[in-house]
Amino acid sequence: MKHYILIVEDEADIAESLRYNFEREGFKVGIAESGEKGLRMALDENRAPSLLLLDLMLPGMSGVELCRRLRREPLTKKMPVIMLTAKAAEGDKIEGLDTGADDYITKPFSVKEVIARVRAVLRRVDADAVQKYEDGRLSVDFVDMRVYCDGDEVKLTRKEFTLLSYLTKNTGRVATRQNLLDNVWGYSYFGDTRTLDVHIRRLRQKLGECGDCIETVVGVGYRFVGFKA
Ligand code: CA
Repeated sequence: MKHYILIVEDEADIAESLRYNFEREGFKVGIAESGEKGLRMALDENRAPSLLLLDLMLPGMSGVELCRRLRREPLTKKMPVIMLTAKAAEGDKIEGLDTGADDYITKPFSVKEVIARVRAVLRRVDADAVQKYEDGRLSVDFVDMRVYCDGDEVKLTRKEFTLLSYLTKNTGRVATRQNLLDNVWGYSYFGDTRTLDVHIRRLRQKLGECGDCIETVVGVGYRFVGFKA
């Protein structure tokens, strides 16, 4: 089945250039020139987008607001979103990721890069259904809750395991501190983020050489990169 990409972008030339290139790559494409229309199209039960390319600066409802609404609706809760932003400010990117966007791309961008990022996110979504992470050196079994690095079992606490699972299920994606606290500690957690850093440090130590798979994204959070085959 063809993937359907919904582009929410008020700048017609950017939207059209994306449409042209995505269609050439075999995608189906829809365009909404406002956040309100984007929301309506995303919630269309008969034609659910595989992914949203979402401009942050829109007239009316902003991209961040639209993303927030999508996350509240059961139908679109997990719909992948890549934010397109002209704002290079770090704060806006973090706000976008905290809202639940899967990735962001700063304008001006190359269409080639956008297509590559879309493919990466779609691959990740398909991989979400799997029960195991495995890259040849590190293996994380989400069902049996066992972890192996280079064939040796690594004993983790429940919290460390949940943290590692979340990171591996989001391979290549930046997990902000807030994402990790919400998903691993739960929304009721009000402690400070040092707890998270302490857990990451311990997790890296226990993983030994496999610990290098967890990258620090300075000022933002962490990213699991895995071992490239
Ligand atoms: Ca715009």
